[in-house]
Amino acid sequence: MDIDTKVIDGSKISSIIKEELKKEIALGLNVGLAVIMVGDNKASEIYVRNKRKACEYIGIKSFIYKLPEETTTGQIMELVEVLNNDNTVDGILIQLPLPNHINTDEVVQSIDKNKDVDGFCHENLGALISGTPNFISCTPIGIIELLKRYEIPIDSQKCVIIGRSSLVGKPLSMLLLNENATVTICHSKTNNLYEQIKDADIIISATGQINLVTGDMIKKGAVIIDVGINKDKDGKLCGDVDYASCIGAASFITPVPGGVGPMTVAMLMKNCVTSAVRKVN
Ligand code: NAD
Repeated sequence: MDIDTKVIDGSKISSIIKEELKKEIALGLNVGLAVIMVGDNKASEIYVRNKRKACEYIGIKSFIYKLPEETTTGQIMELVEVLNNDNTVDGILIQLPLPNHINTDEVVQSIDKNKDVDGFCHENLGALISGTPNFISCTPIGIIELLKRYEIPIDSQKCVIIGRSSLVGKPLSMLLLNENATVTICHSKTNNLYEQIKDADIIISATGQINLVTGDMIKKGAVIIDVGINKDKDGKLCGDVDYASCIGAASFITPVPGGVGPMTVAMLMKNCVTSAVRKVN
């Protein structure tokens, strides 16, 4: 018999979080986010615009630095150093990808760990692994937030993550472990993906591969979190999961768009507010 699949509404949850943050800021908190982008990248422009809009909505000051394509690694690091020492800036974000001639890792690692609201610097990644997290990467923590707000149990569940990037898969595996899940990470060299996911309670796909997960591959009642952002052959936005075939098979599923994506921005805003609160305490 088909299951009544519930859609996890990331847009709704992200709006609730933004309202909560707006109220917190209205109590008299000053919060600033600096965003550095380099060169012309259409996708980056859209992402930065969305972040600026979210900042405006909840009352965070945003400082957008749009630097020319020929900017050097050293010049970006000089700007980061200025922002590290600027008391009006609580969070610093480097919009990725940077142009090829720039040493992305060196730039990201130059951000003060207490302003690294993306949670990408080695110290913050290490803190997560050691179980004493500081700032956590926004997409993985947004996924945990979605599961919790929908009261989906994580403790003792079998979770399979598809994708092992430092941005999503790896930090998410640590977060799920910290929640007492049993975690398997799959990737492009995994033999027989189906064998890994067929009895999973929660499947999180973050690969950028269309239709990688289909309804006939999953256990009845599994929870599906689709992180992928892809365009189908008609240019329509879609995830990694064949959404239609999972309806009736999954207990919960995130749509694309409107699932994990909006949560990433909401958690970035939350990290900025956390940073500002720490400053005044
Ligand atoms: P990435 O390219 O760094 O990593 C992709 C991962 O998928 C790799 O670990 C690779 O081994 C694995 N993979 C690729 N093909 C596979 C296959 N056939 N079987 C199993 N594993 C396979 O990507 P990323 O930065 O982690 O992003 C992954 C996807 O998530 C992309 O579509 C990206 O756009 C999206 N994304 C969405 C958000 C959001 O806010 N919704 C945030 C970050 C990334």
